Amino acid sequence: MNLTLHLTDNCNMDCSYCIREKCPKDMSEEVLFKACDLAFSKGTRAGLCFFGGEPLLKKELIYKALDYCEKKSEKTGIRFDCKMTTNGTLLDEEFLDRAAKANLGIGLSFDGRAQDVCRIFANGKPTSSVVEEKAKLLLKYIPKASALATIAPQAVPYYAESVKYLHDLGFKNVSFVIAYGHKVNWTDSDLDALRVQLEETASYLKELFLKKETFYMSAIDSKISDCIRGRNPAERCHLGTRQMPVTPDGTLYPCTSFIGDEKYILGNVFDGIDEAKVIELAKRSATPETCRECDLVKRCTNSCGCANRMNTGNENQVSPLQCTYERMLIEISDNLGEELYQIDPDRFAKEFA
Ligand code: SF4
Ligand code: SF4
Repeated sequence: MNLTLHLTDNCNMDCSYCIREKCPKDMSEEVLFKACDLAFSKGTRAGLCFFGGEPLLKKELIYKALDYCEKKSEKTGIRFDCKMTTNGTLLDEEFLDRAAKANLGIGLSFDGRAQDVCRIFANGKPTSSVVEEKAKLLLKYIPKASALATIAPQAVPYYAESVKYLHDLGFKNVSFVIAYGHKVNWTDSDLDALRVQLEETASYLKELFLKKETFYMSAIDSKISDCIRGRNPAERCHLGTRQMPVTPDGTLYPCTSFIGDEKYILGNVFDGIDEAKVIELAKRSATPETCRECDLVKRCTNSCGCANRMNTGNENQVSPLQCTYERMLIEISDNLGEELYQIDPDRFAKEFA
């Protein structure tokens, strides 16, 4: 099974949209090893995602988990996969060498040209020049690493420029999401500006397609490929069944935004999973009532319980922000998809089908 280990709630940065609890707590070795055992206890593969706060503040725990799980995998024959999301500031050659050997997938939280708008050090200093250097180092060791950008309203003017910048740095895979939660406030004019930026991004993706360059920009490309493959993004929301977060004290929850809500505790690494609660949660009807009659219902992330909860406080209720954003993304992606298909149907099929 897959677990997301919150190795610490502490962080050396203070991003303006961060929703983590600001009460620094670290995971103990005891919890760490119990969590590793739990990951190996169910299914045919064990998956760990190192997360925080900033997980590299607890590098020694990552080394210990990798050693422990690699041995366990050898002994049991169960496949072990690992990944990490990091702000990148503490990456170094020694860590990256070990990470490359362990085949650790790394997602670098990096807002590109908008980095210093929201992502600053805890002491208020900018982070862009440090993270740019670390990004180059990361790509040297792990060329498949991805960049994960979170765009808050004040960063919208840098959106398209950031996609280009991250591509120029050498990332082949970038994920752009908009910032949610009580710390951000989207206005209609921000959303209009976002549309312009998404259209500019689509033109850039067309340019790359014409040059036959492979580059995956999740927000737009996933909408095109989901449509071609007939996949419903709603099916990606598996609250409590696909990727369970483990807090520093070993408590299990269905998804990150539920952490701290006692009603949603699904067990702990010492006593195991409360299966009855997981089954109960799985029965939830994922599609919000307001979406059932919508033509886009199968193409929209309306059922992401985590995003819904962050926006509306209710995992079954989608926000007007999410609805507007999804409509915009689908329209722009469909237009781009049509154009790319007309340019080169074979290449289009190869990339998206
Ligand atoms: S790097 Fe991540 S955990 Fe740290 S402040 Fe920023 S968003 Fe929060
Ligand atoms: S576009 Fe809006 S109404 Fe339609 S499925 Fe998505 S969130 Fe629901």
